[in-house]
Amino acid sequence: MSQTNYIFIAGPCAAESEQQVLATAQALQSCRIDFFRAGLWKPRTSPHSFQGVGEKGIKWLIKAKEQYGLKICTEVATPEHVMQCRNAGFDALWIGARTVSDPFAVQTLCEYLMGYDGTVLVKNPISDDIDLWQGAIQRLQMVGIKKIIAVHRGVKPSAYHPTEFRNNPTWAMPIELRRRLPDMPIITDPSHIAGKADLVQSVAQQAMSLGLDGLMVEVHCDPLHAKSDSAQQLTPALFADLLQNLNYRHQSQHEQELLQLREQIDNIDNQLWQLIAQRLDVSEQIGKIKQEHDMPIFQPARYEHILQQRITWAKQHNIDQQTVKDIMQILHDASIQKQLQKI
Ligand code: PEP
Ligand code: MN
Repeated sequence: MSQTNYIFIAGPCAAESEQQVLATAQALQSCRIDFFRAGLWKPRTSPHSFQGVGEKGIKWLIKAKEQYGLKICTEVATPEHVMQCRNAGFDALWIGARTVSDPFAVQTLCEYLMGYDGTVLVKNPISDDIDLWQGAIQRLQMVGIKKIIAVHRGVKPSAYHPTEFRNNPTWAMPIELRRRLPDMPIITDPSHIAGKADLVQSVAQQAMSLGLDGLMVEVHCDPLHAKSDSAQQLTPALFADLLQNLNYRHQSQHEQELLQLREQIDNIDNQLWQLIAQRLDVSEQIGKIKQEHDMPIFQPARYEHILQQRITWAKQHNIDQQTVKDIMQILHDASIQKQLQKI
């Protein structure tokens, strides 16, 4: 299917050498990407890992732009980064997840971005705080930036709940951003979500199947020897395959076929609300008894029992454990709130 109207960004995690930048750019030339990416200043957790080549890499990216006709973009985190890239003629700049987590830093960048007519990409923050993501976008809009793209890059998993992902996709985040800002293009960065090359394709496909607007993918001419994020970078050939194999979805005239099923969903939700209201009434009564007898509201052993039993019940219906935990946590919290209100 056609890939028109989608936004595709590809390039190495970091610019490492002129040769590496140009080799990767050349290999990507035939993929018809919208922007070539390469980080110059890398926001690394450890001061001992590769920090990026900094300003000296600007001319390599400009060369990639001139030689291969690619639009170029990089991450900016300080006023100096913004000024250097604006002076050099970058077509797009992105604000990274760590910077978006800090409203002071975003505001400072916005002051230096004022008057920039390129595209500004805004990653979601490290945590699942969607207000910070939206806030950063609003700050850019307030200084007159017209071309903004939100980049969904997932959320750092809790140390207590390790997952197969480097960053949990947390699809609820782009879904909620779309609800709040229906006209904002949202693309996914499957590389930083996946953390490993062989997971990138499936995350990318999920983003497209969901109906998001494109992808930012890390592509390196020699991923094995990359100085940062080696495990997650694709070769240009693998990226070309990824594009080739993506299935695209389109709004179509088949809404009619969904009508009956949607009616069923509406009915089920209506019943769910009645049941939840009943559950809260009962828990209010329990709260009263606890209060009369000076019993603590939170009963850990009972909660653990509820959780385990519901997980077993739900298993019989093929509902996965995490979903049960998430729902039970919300239901239990609502009961606790109810009982706390009555004291
Ligand atoms: C990156 O895209 O290279 C990067 C550092 O991303 P993030 O800010 O999403 O971690
Ligand atoms: Mn990276």
